Amino acid sequence: MRESVTACIALGANLGDARHTVLQAIQAIGQLAGCKLVSASRLYRTAPWQAQGPDFVNAVVNVATTLTAPALLQALQALEQAAGRERPYLNAPRTLDLDILLYGAGRIDSSELTVPHPRMMQRAFVLYPLADVLPDFVQPAVWLAVQDQAIEVIKGISCESGGQTR
Ligand code: ADP
Ligand code: MG
Repeated sequence: MRESVTACIALGANLGDARHTVLQAIQAIGQLAGCKLVSASRLYRTAPWQAQGPDFVNAVVNVATTLTAPALLQALQALEQAAGRERPYLNAPRTLDLDILLYGAGRIDSSELTVPHPRMMQRAFVLYPLADVLPDFVQPAVWLAVQDQAIEVIKGISCESGGQTR
């Protein structure tokens, strides 16, 4: 039996019912074979950043997983496909984007996977939800770099409430 690793996964969606898609994806990640949901951030609304289309809904989850990082990526890409993800061009609007931010303390640099995610520290839509699940991870100076990026908590929605207004 492989040892369990704590991994952080970023979720983003800006097509269709993005809130519903993100909430469903959080549940689905927790049900993946070899993955256990440890914690989930609040949901955030963000303006597209170096991307097109409607506002995004973003979140981050922490999972305990016995999957290898490539196997986790494969499982997440299957969820993206199931949500109808298409990749017509770089940074295109997406029904669901699932990125591995952290895989324990692992550093990976292969053709299909870079971990820690190379752009995570420049993106408010990653850092704010990440700070919900890993409060000590984001250093104060990092917040300065993202202070111009518009982001707000989607009030009344949490995965614990099953998407219902509290
Ligand atoms: P992006 O998330 O950058 O907008 P995509 O979701 O289309 O773009 O992913 C493009 C490729 O990025 C994937 O096919 C995957 O192989 C690669 N990739 C590299 N590192 C990661 C990571 N940490 N998490 C998810 N995908 C990654
Ligand atoms: Mg992606």
